Amino acid sequence: MKSEALRVSVDELRRMFPRKSRSWVARSLRRFLNGDVKKISENTWLVMGRREMGDALPHYVVRYINNRYVCDCQASMGEGRVCSHIGAVVLSNIYDSMTKTVYAAVINTRCRDSQLLIIGDKAHEINVRNVANDTGTIYILIASSELSVKALLACDDELREEVLRLRPMELWEVLTFERGVAKIRKG
Ligand SMILES: [Zn+2]
Repeated sequence: MKSEALRVSVDELRRMFPRKSRSWVARSLRRFLNGDVKKISENTWLVMGRREMGDALPHYVVRYINNRYVCDCQASMGEGRVCSHIGAVVLSNIYDSMTKTVYAAVINTRCRDSQLLIIGDKAHEINVRNVANDTGTIYILIASSELSVKALLACDDELREEVLRLRPMELWEVLTFERGVAKIRKG
């Protein structure tokens, strides 16, 4: 378990469920850290029940159906309720995606106005995110494989060509960098 990746994952869980209480987040985290979540098929997970957390059953089945999560315990606890079994499954999925290796490159433009254009047939494989701050726009390129690409950068009234090599990073590292840059802007 990587603690920084976990921290980013918990933040993401809070952003996805802004109305859930701190204790729901804590219970979801506790179940995940206990290793109680087991994936059993593409859209089905088994979550171990714990008597000390108020669970009546030895385990619960969480499924992802029609774009939402459902859990066994909802029969008794109320339809549509997002229980902490679901919270633990969602956190586990977030953590898995956060610790996946992606390939990223950063361009710090330092231009007032800028536009970035990726050239070539790999362009569609790249996800471009941008963060504006006081010194200009920072572009973050993300792909799922190791690539080198050419890009045209329009920086104010100048046109530059850049060759960018996307290097392996874990997704949480990219997001931490991006948030760090955004924070500098806010001050
Ligand atoms: Zn449940």
